[in-house]
Amino acid sequence: MICKEDKAQVKQRVHALFSQAQDHFSIPLTVPEITWRRCGKNAGTANLTTNKINFNPVLFCHNREAYFSDVIPHEVSHVVVHQLYGKVPPHGRQWQWVMTSVFDTPAKTTHNFDLTPLGLKGFSYQCACGEITLSVRRHNKVMRNQQQYICRQCRNILIYVEGGKHHNVE
Ligand SMILES: [Zn+2]
Ligand SMILES: [Zn+2]
Repeated sequence: MICKEDKAQVKQRVHALFSQAQDHFSIPLTVPEITWRRCGKNAGTANLTTNKINFNPVLFCHNREAYFSDVIPHEVSHVVVHQLYGKVPPHGRQWQWVMTSVFDTPAKTTHNFDLTPLGLKGFSYQCACGEITLSVRRHNKVMRNQQQYICRQCRNILIYVEGGKHHNVE
């Protein structure tokens, strides 16, 4: 489980990225509050209106390195972009530019995290017939590009339906 030291380290990383952005743009930015709630299959989410970043504690514990290298800069970039430019597309050119030019991080929007530790029941997929649920084990295979599944009736490849506008990292 996530401990005090983990939380402190994440906070430190968030603050370091913020001062980096602040130096880069030479304008004051407001560091967001960090929360730790399970948020479905999302690794992290940024609430721009309340200036809060939430990280998924379960996925964090299983993917520490990826959090420090990718997930934290990803969410911080959302907040920085919002404070600089207001309402712009979530992973648009401003966000991509902050990721790559300011934080020197690839502008990735999804991760291949193993979602088994989340204990979710299944994931929604779609074909011509409608929606179908795949098990977490199968879903993980699809996410790792190891396997595709085909509907027995319509013979279409099952396409993952991401929960609304959510994706692994939001
Ligand atoms: Zn079908
Ligand atoms: Zn995002």
